[in-house]
Amino acid sequence: MRKNGQYNDGYNNPSQQEEEVKRSYLGSIAHGLATLLTGLKVTFVEFFTGKVTEEYPDNRKTLVMSDRFRGTLYMPLDENGQDKCIACGLCQMNCPNDTLHLEIDTVADEETGKKKKVMRTYRYDLGACMFCRLCVNVCPAGAIAFDTKFEHAVFNKDRLVKILNKPDDRQS
Ligand code: SF4
Ligand code: SF4
Repeated sequence: MRKNGQYNDGYNNPSQQEEEVKRSYLGSIAHGLATLLTGLKVTFVEFFTGKVTEEYPDNRKTLVMSDRFRGTLYMPLDENGQDKCIACGLCQMNCPNDTLHLEIDTVADEETGKKKKVMRTYRYDLGACMFCRLCVNVCPAGAIAFDTKFEHAVFNKDRLVKILNKPDDRQS
């Protein structure tokens, strides 16, 4: 309907309106193509970039894990082959998951005669660990660390419980 020489939609004549619709239609197509090409640019770049997929377990012998990977908690020995643990209990206190259970003895130091704590049993339940690394972070002696071993599957979950200060369960 016309009013004051104009149609209700503000155009002077129908052909001007059609032209505007045509322009916005073509503009939408152009915009769609531009965004499609932007997405395809990423696809093409990745297509010609070297592959990073690890073909595990076929590559088990050559697989290199990052040093920062948290595989299994273990107790590294010092240069004299001794535990670094000073039996302070901080790791157990800070573990949010009740994964660590320490049995600590109090003995008399052979040289000074003073009482001191020694670790009797350092029990670690790998099946309960959530690898937060809080225990390693709080340890003042650097007595525990994570190695990069990650193949933890067992048929009996009891085998995930390790006594870290015993030779059989020492790793790395
Ligand atoms: S990594 Fe976290 S959950 Fe696992 S033993 Fe250490 S503090 Fe506990
Ligand atoms: S492992 Fe570290 S934090 Fe835990 S009891 Fe030993 S010295 Fe303390």
